[in-house]
Amino acid sequence: MKSAAFEHLRAASIGEAAALLAEGETRLLAGGQSLGPMLNLRLARPRRLVDVKRIPALRALAADARMLRLGAGWTHAEIEDGVVEDSTRGLLRHVAHGIAYRAVRNRGTIGGSLAHADPAADWLATLVGLGATVTIEGRAGEQRRLAVEKFCHGAFATDLAEDEVLEAVELPRLSPQARWGYHKICRKTGEFAKAIGIAVLDPGRGLARIVAGAVDGPPVLLPESSAALLASGAAAAGAALPEEVALRLAHLPAAEQALRLVALRRALAGLAGA
Ligand SMILES: Cc1cc2nc3c(=O)[nH]c(=O)nc-3n(C[C@H](O)[C@H](O)[C@H](O)COP(=O)(O)OP(=O)(O)OC[C@H]3O[C@@H](n4cnc5c(N)ncnc54)[C@H](O)[C@@H]3O)c2cc1C
Repeated sequence: MKSAAFEHLRAASIGEAAALLAEGETRLLAGGQSLGPMLNLRLARPRRLVDVKRIPALRALAADARMLRLGAGWTHAEIEDGVVEDSTRGLLRHVAHGIAYRAVRNRGTIGGSLAHADPAADWLATLVGLGATVTIEGRAGEQRRLAVEKFCHGAFATDLAEDEVLEAVELPRLSPQARWGYHKICRKTGEFAKAIGIAVLDPGRGLARIVAGAVDGPPVLLPESSAALLASGAAAAGAALPEEVALRLAHLPAAEQALRLVALRRALAGLAGA
């Protein structure tokens, strides 16, 4: 099946893209790796596509001692290849490398992935695990910042208003003492995850976050296990996991909970071994 006809425009700025969005029946086109299949399956039938790939603000890059600000238009491949700095001691590059196949990574963007909000997406879980924030810009140039865990409301649902553009993600700069573990369970390389476990520990910054991803909705932060990780280390966090997974993932069938538990334990093992 092929897409229905649409008009194709290119926006030069976020303001222009947002103004076009406000006119309705319009979708932004970044890498097209999620929107393309949706158009072809006619799950999306916008009257107009607005290409945002050449908007300079979406390719911006800024860093300081505290954080890295990455424009929404950087591709998975550019992150994988280290074209942009990795402020997370290798976690970003590791995650990018595990997304789909190189052909998808060459075009797919971190912002497109977040805006699409597939619950099985790697960036969504990773950025919640890092406690990252997003910046969003509207038609009149007004900007707002939001924690990624608040940005995603549910499967394919975000806080973006119809006329807003996801501008950038802000990632913490992890200290040299920081450790992380990331485990993605999927049937074969290049597929979306069946389960994701992520654990990040940066004691100097008081940062400890254990997150279950690919859970049919927004990634789920496990606060008790995270607190145990910070206070007593990976073994204590591992001991707290079964009870907290049963509590916070109670909406999933037992076998699905077990899969997340395995992913989380392997993420913790990765963290402990790093
Ligand atoms: C075969 C295949 C396998 C895949 N496997 C994985 C995987 O293992 N893990 C994974 O995480 N992903 C996977 N993906 C998805 C891939 O990562 C996509 O690149 C990503 O989900 C969408 O990014 P994009 O830049 O292509 O966005 P697009 O497809 O262009 O857009 C997606 C949505 O986001 C909106 N959008 C785009 N940019 C912005 C913006 N700046 N502001 C507001 N809205 C915006 C669009 O309007 C659209 O609604 C896979 C895709 C394919 C085709």
